[in-house]
Amino acid sequence: MNNHQGYQIRRSSRAKRLRIVVTADKVEAVAPLRMPERKIHQFMRIRAGWVEAAKNEVQQHVDSVTSLAPASYQQGALIPYQGAQYKLQIYMTREKQIKIAFEQCFTAYVPECISKDLNQRELSQQIQSALISWMGQEAAKQAAAYADKYAPMYKLTPRSISIKAQKSRWGSCGIHNDINLNWLLILAPAAVFEYVLIHELCHIEQRNHSAAFWALVARHCPDYQQQRGWLKRYGASLMLGL
Ligand SMILES: [Zn+2]
Repeated sequence: MNNHQGYQIRRSSRAKRLRIVVTADKVEAVAPLRMPERKIHQFMRIRAGWVEAAKNEVQQHVDSVTSLAPASYQQGALIPYQGAQYKLQIYMTREKQIKIAFEQCFTAYVPECISKDLNQRELSQQIQSALISWMGQEAAKQAAAYADKYAPMYKLTPRSISIKAQKSRWGSCGIHNDINLNWLLILAPAAVFEYVLIHELCHIEQRNHSAAFWALVARHCPDYQQQRGWLKRYGASLMLGL
């Protein structure tokens, strides 16, 4: 693949004509199999201004996506959870491990023996990773509860449900009905989490996104459009993680 001219050429048997795809990390010229390279470069030269403008637009979009995570996991930091934000309190303890508790707000119990050897940034990282594993466990509990609620309704029983760290998807349903859910969904409103699980459960019966599939989703989750809308709007921020 040559990229010295600032774009990559990708051949596609489905491309009828040259198409330019601009994403956050690359510019691609998607060309029909037989189009001569010379013609591709010629076309890209003509469209150089358009490509520049598209790159700027994509970059502006990337810049406008802000993380839900606090800059530092310190006393009073705001932690996103189930569509809201909760204050973090930090207490020193004599235990051996960091413990997270949640009740109106988040509390991190930090062992004195750990904290005395850490600077501010290291302590923040330790609390962050304790929170992330706490969130993963919560996501698993939540997913199990929703599956118990919905699986019997239309006999949509998954073989397993796993909580995963995924960079680009919210959930998936494999051919043997193993469902994966992104742990970050626990940061979204509970109704959004619920919708994504329902969506994957419905794939047990409909392995596509046909009208029949969406009708099945709507039977379980009549306001699913609203939850999809939430993911469209805030999903990129959510994907930035904690
Ligand atoms: Zn789907």
